[in-house]
Amino acid sequence: AQADAAASVRAAAVLPYLDPSLPVADRVADLLGRMTLDDKVGQMTQSERGTTTAADVTSYRVGSVLSGGGSAPSPNTPAGWADMYDSYQRGALATPLQIPIIYGIDAVHGNNNVPGSTIFPHNIGLGATRDPALVERIGRATAEEVSGAGQDWTFAPCLCVARNDRWGRTYESYGEKPELATAMTTIVDGLQDNGVLATAKHYIGDGGTTGGVDQGNTEISEAELRNVHLPPFKAAIERGVGSVMLSFSSFNGTKLHSHKYLVTDLLKGELGFTGFVVSDWAAIDQLDGQRGFTQAEVVIAFNAGLDMAMVPTDWKVFVGYLKAAVQAGQIPMARVDDANRRILTKKFELGLFEKPYADRSFASTIGSAEHRALARQAVRQSQVLLKKGILPLAKTGGKIFVAGKSADDLGNQSGGWTLSWQGASGNTVPGTSILSGIRTAVGSGATVTYNRDGTGIDSSYRAAIAVVGETPYAEGEGDRPGAMTLDATDLATLSRLRASGVPVIVVLVSGRPLDIAAELSSWNALIAAWLPGTEGAGVADVLFGDYAPTGKLPVTWMQSAAQQPINDGDGKTPLFPYGYGLTYADTSPDTTAPTVPGVPVAASVTSSGLTLSWTPSADTGGSGLAGYDVYRDGVLIGSPTTATHTVTGLTPATRYEFTVAARDTAGNRSTRSAALAVTTAAGTPSGSCRVRYTTNDWSTGFTGTVALTNTGTTPIN
Ligand code: BGC
Repeated sequence: AQADAAASVRAAAVLPYLDPSLPVADRVADLLGRMTLDDKVGQMTQSERGTTTAADVTSYRVGSVLSGGGSAPSPNTPAGWADMYDSYQRGALATPLQIPIIYGIDAVHGNNNVPGSTIFPHNIGLGATRDPALVERIGRATAEEVSGAGQDWTFAPCLCVARNDRWGRTYESYGEKPELATAMTTIVDGLQDNGVLATAKHYIGDGGTTGGVDQGNTEISEAELRNVHLPPFKAAIERGVGSVMLSFSSFNGTKLHSHKYLVTDLLKGELGFTGFVVSDWAAIDQLDGQRGFTQAEVVIAFNAGLDMAMVPTDWKVFVGYLKAAVQAGQIPMARVDDANRRILTKKFELGLFEKPYADRSFASTIGSAEHRALARQAVRQSQVLLKKGILPLAKTGGKIFVAGKSADDLGNQSGGWTLSWQGASGNTVPGTSILSGIRTAVGSGATVTYNRDGTGIDSSYRAAIAVVGETPYAEGEGDRPGAMTLDATDLATLSRLRASGVPVIVVLVSGRPLDIAAELSSWNALIAAWLPGTEGAGVADVLFGDYAPTGKLPVTWMQSAAQQPINDGDGKTPLFPYGYGLTYADTSPDTTAPTVPGVPVAASVTSSGLTLSWTPSADTGGSGLAGYDVYRDGVLIGSPTTATHTVTGLTPATRYEFTVAARDTAGNRSTRSAALAVTTAAGTPSGSCRVRYTTNDWSTGFTGTVALTNTGTTPIN
């Protein structure tokens, strides 16, 4: 009813700025001409919802409210969010000029603020997909879920080019190369074409600070700044991004929030950015190097080119400072008008004057099956296979052991910026954990045993899947100036698994590369899962071969943390180079191993047993072929020097999986062959045996099922 009343008041008005048929520029000019200094100062203010009432919005003419990382908890249902939004909007529409607020949030991997939302992989995983069209679709889905909760504006995408993995925001980056972040600016279209204003952040050089220190100092030449950190912003501006957030960081000692050359001359001048510039959280309080918030800091920031201040420490004090600074001539009125023109233009373009209240029709898209399917697809595409080992796993037969602190933890899977700023471990959001994805994939075909810390494993299992890595963090809390190894919990879990002799497949859930070189040789296979979000089934899809991996490293993977920063083309030797990523059809060897076998293992039943044979390709990678290792269900059963091995003692009606690896004289093992599954017939003595080849993926592998009959007289069972 209140909404209707407001609408009729507005309809009755004949003021030009309320006439949607007029061009936006004319409406802005008309409105600006009617605004008092208080109105203008209000538009340049973004207050935090925990310290703002609807009545404050009316009396201070607040232009924008946000729920940010540092905000007090917000409602926990979509309807609660929409109601909150509407209440602020009623406050705004109670002002003389009825200028609607714009409400901002950090929807940085889906609408991660609202429980029940689809949580997409963090940007580093999206970078691994190399799929800008997918990222655009994610932008659209995110926009729908944001609109469904009533918001208009997201502080995304983060277009940082992360050059040092010690930085706690590395996972918010699409990767270490400007081309990659530039390609992914399609997300701007996905968001803005669906009614949500996007923010290119953090301008500029946030990913290039010395030591990877959050909010630190980027000490590079202007040429490098332009070559490495500017391109994604340029691309976002070409796509019409509506707002740009300044970085907390400094460029060669000057804070971005005071950098007139970079903000006014380069961004607004040279690049022609016509949207508005918002500060980072309370960032203007840092400008004069003094403790406490002063009017001088307000003057510095707005004269450098800032248009809207996010949460100055005390926003009501800020309103007073800004007004006083303008009245004292410290900030020219032309600058104030320019800021207002930019902000109001976006509000008109978004249609806020015509439709100021939350559009609840999108609420049904929040966490919808369609969006979750899209997220699962993104998870699949974001997985990077770094070591193939016995992957993919067969879904049937034997027992699989799952362990690790992130195997059944949606909070760990989702990382920071999930319901709260720092995120949290535990099943904080609804979704599918990696463990439950594994259980569903396997169904009744195999036994899945889960024990978080790896206790209870023994050699009767055919594989152990260890889901380990980082626990959630955001911003500077995630900076890692020292060691970047796995934590003690993970190392203990892995050593329990390793002691069983069962092949260990590691799924690394982390926001960046970790220092794993010392562990890698003891892992049979390795997948970098990044921070996949709520759809853990996408990880299982890769483990079991429902999706052959396509992800490529978006960052260079260090040999050790001492190499940081390490980036493509800098002459350092990485553990895995930028762009690395195996797939199941790929016969390329482990980096230090011989190249044999490069062909499938075949089996035939002979009078002496089941004879496995293979034809090695040339050993080009290692130090000379020493022989082979043959595994049955992951357990080493023989080390022949020729390319054949005969197995006996097979039980009837049992499925076995055989794999072979080549070993060079230095002891390096090749990636094992794809698993050859053999099912022996029931009943003894039968004299026959069914042998089933599962080809999985091997490049020249078999297709279909081949049945062999034992033509000999001696049963092998
Ligand atoms: C972060 C921004 C974020 C803002 C609002 C800041 O601390 O640096 O990326 O948009 O908070 O939550």
